[in-house]
Amino acid sequence: MRYSQLLIPTVKEVPADAEIISHQLMIRAGYIRKLASGTYTYLLLGWRSLRKIMNIVREEMDATGAQEISMPILQPIELWQQTGRETAYGPTMCKFEDRHGRMNALAPTAEEVVTSLVASEINSYKQLPINLYQITTKFRDEFRPRFGVLRSREFIMKDAYSFHVDPEGLEETYMVMYETYRRIFKRCGLKYVIVEAETGEMGGSGSHQFTIPCENGEDVIVYTEDGSYAANIEKADVDALPAPTAPADAPAPEEVHTPKVGSIEAVCEFLDTSPKEMIKTLIYTAADDSTVACLIRGDHELNPEKLTQILGQGAELAEESSVQSITGASVGFAGPVGLDKKVATLLIDHAVAALPVGVAGANKTDHHIKNIVPGRDFPIAGENISVVDIRNAVESDTHDGKKLLFKRGIEVGQVFKLGTKYTKALGATVIDESGKSTPCLMGCYGIGINRILASAIELGNDKNGCILPVSIAPFEVEVVQLNNDKPAVAAEAERIYKELADSGVDVLFDDRDARPGVKFKDSDLIGIPVRVVVGERGLKEGNVELKRRTDDKAINVPAAQIVSKVGEILAEMKSFL
Ligand code: ATP
Ligand code: MG
Repeated sequence: MRYSQLLIPTVKEVPADAEIISHQLMIRAGYIRKLASGTYTYLLLGWRSLRKIMNIVREEMDATGAQEISMPILQPIELWQQTGRETAYGPTMCKFEDRHGRMNALAPTAEEVVTSLVASEINSYKQLPINLYQITTKFRDEFRPRFGVLRSREFIMKDAYSFHVDPEGLEETYMVMYETYRRIFKRCGLKYVIVEAETGEMGGSGSHQFTIPCENGEDVIVYTEDGSYAANIEKADVDALPAPTAPADAPAPEEVHTPKVGSIEAVCEFLDTSPKEMIKTLIYTAADDSTVACLIRGDHELNPEKLTQILGQGAELAEESSVQSITGASVGFAGPVGLDKKVATLLIDHAVAALPVGVAGANKTDHHIKNIVPGRDFPIAGENISVVDIRNAVESDTHDGKKLLFKRGIEVGQVFKLGTKYTKALGATVIDESGKSTPCLMGCYGIGINRILASAIELGNDKNGCILPVSIAPFEVEVVQLNNDKPAVAAEAERIYKELADSGVDVLFDDRDARPGVKFKDSDLIGIPVRVVVGERGLKEGNVELKRRTDDKAINVPAAQIVSKVGEILAEMKSFL
């Protein structure tokens, strides 16, 4: 394609609202333009990259026998009510009432729709297994859209759904998808890690996430140095801390007046203690409306995914008014003493149970209690009381005795074993071999297409611009023509462009009437992997210049050999993918 006819609006300035490099470069290189918060137009370069990513995904999915379909983005809300996920998704789901008063959702995902399809179309085990997928737009009204297309409100997802009559069948397809994902990310030129993940509001029994380690990722990966364990922080199990050794002569609990110091930091300063010695008391309301109190150390964070797993249902932080009526105190002064009688469930994090002595709210506004000994001053066992792992892992934690390490990453894909959550709710049953009706087992497998591109730029860039893997770059080769006013140069550049294009190379031809400096700057910025420069000086010797985007210097190649030389370089680049 001829640059002079294309819309590639490169810009020098770093956009003010772009915090991370991939977002900055995608704007600067003219890949995308923002329409509104979390929505982007893909221009030629960005869209060509996405098309290439989608093609890789499609080829790999098709090769497994998965069938591509296309389901509506407009979904009746009743389906979501049947599975209880209207509430689970909450405000993240985009909803609207149509002119006939019916509520609709804009697909954040499609488990409900595909399961209702299977419920009506499949009735015998003989029709299973089946794996249906689509590559379509999804909508999520994210609380905080950011980082450009990494967390947007409208994005393209490849979502696949498999259905099975038995657990062995599900396991087999799950592993096929797992291996397929490895191939997809490798072909996209991405270095990834696979971590154990939580199933979240999806439900189900097992999940893995494919994550691209990089500084700007929003996810935290927790792993052991020997590689024997790697999990998303939402999932990472930590060892219980050693049993406490409370001093036998621990002083009796003492109520202290702490006027208006509701936050951990304020209490610590006021009482000259550290967050490690504080017991934070968080009151939750579970989906069944029961009250749950969670005790974690002041320096720890509650992990909502672990809470959901333990409760077997979702839970939200209780409203201020219910915290007050349960504890008898304003928010910030809840504490464990006497609390077990006031809530349906008391969950105590291991690290709290392991505190020899701590400080907590007194369930009385403007008051705390010092010298609290878990097990002495509040129970740590009982019918509605359990000691559990309910917080995020931190630096000093271990897993199976091995020190946990942390790094950030971008989740690009996730696979789930869902079991029967959706098929039971939506009646997707089949007659099994013995003639019995049984709900199908289900797996689901997602990939964020846009996130693949942004992650690739996050990993591949330098001060001059993008450095994209050849498989997903918008073009494989750029031919840059200098000295536009010289007919001989123009003719040779034209010949090379045409021959490359005719030999099947995906080539961009910078035929613009612009200064060489402008052309080189743009070329580096947009990041095409191979560049051929055709100029008067080189041609005098019969040469053109050849440079990989990753090389510092160009080499001279006889113009007559450039087409075959480019072919060799592309083949070599592709051999690593
Ligand atoms: P996250 O935890 O980052 O919000 P998720 O776990 O909710 O993502 P899934 O439901 O697993 O996402 O969706 C499948 C894939 O879709 C994700 O692995 C990710 O690559 C992509 N994705 C999800 N949300 C977004 C978004 N807001 N913008 C761009 N891509 C997204
Ligand atoms: Mg996910």
